[in-house]
Amino acid sequence: MKTGERSRMLRGMTQDGSARITVLNSSSMVARAAALHKTSPTAMAALGRCLTAVSMIGVMLPEKEDSATLMLNGDGPAGRVLCVSDYYGNVRGYIEHPGVDLPRKANGKLDVGGAIGHGTLSLLRDITGADLPQSGTVPLVSGEVAEDVASYFAESEQIPTICALGVLVGGGEVCLAAGGVLIQLLPFASEETVALLERNTASLSHISDCFHQGMSNREIAALALRDIAFDVFDELEVEYRCTCSRGRMLEGIRRLGRKKVCEMLDEQEAEGKPRELEANCRFCNTAYVFGEAELMEEKEESRA
Ligand SMILES: [Zn+2]
Repeated sequence: MKTGERSRMLRGMTQDGSARITVLNSSSMVARAAALHKTSPTAMAALGRCLTAVSMIGVMLPEKEDSATLMLNGDGPAGRVLCVSDYYGNVRGYIEHPGVDLPRKANGKLDVGGAIGHGTLSLLRDITGADLPQSGTVPLVSGEVAEDVASYFAESEQIPTICALGVLVGGGEVCLAAGGVLIQLLPFASEETVALLERNTASLSHISDCFHQGMSNREIAALALRDIAFDVFDELEVEYRCTCSRGRMLEGIRRLGRKKVCEMLDEQEAEGKPRELEANCRFCNTAYVFGEAELMEEKEESRA
């Protein structure tokens, strides 16, 4: 996998207007996330599936400044998985315990459901101009992510949805391939098309193998929409992209208040360390170190 390579997404619709489809080859996105978070194979699959899903959800946001956050809160050893997408489908995310690894299931698949456990899936959309984010929460069906996402749309938004997600992990814990398909029915979908879509879902059960074999997004769309005429709207490039910066991290620490920051610096000193604080970005693991002078500096606006 070349670094800096982008993941590719295809968006289309059936010609009869029954359903829209999104296909994402997220291999490079997931490989980047795995490298940043040093994930075990099971954690890579869990995080990779969530990143793939949230990217396909993110591109449906209405405005350029909007964001979508997908959160899996399970009681399994992986802990929480949180992934964010922007309007363009660029994502960032983390898994609470990236080292968690479980034995493979009897069918040879990674035990993502076991790592996530029982709990809830939440989707939160921050929409420009809305007073509060739109959010919904549903119980996890299996913790395998794809069916949990489908269940979210069906239960929380009344949109019948087919979702397939897969991450193929090779020896040496490398991401060989990753990707997903999201199909959503539109109002007044034809019964005939719905029946064909349901029949076709079986061919999506090994979606990561399809990407690994080198199938294009268009070929995978044709597999999911076999015997259904469809048009491709557009193809976009998306990637793993962190939005952190030194300035934003500093703001985050200052928001704790001068008193709290002073106490933290005193604690550092009491432990024989320099009077400085380190903050790590959860999404890319970049460490930012701030000295006392910088932390205590009065902000321009507060001086005015
Ligand atoms: Zn970051």
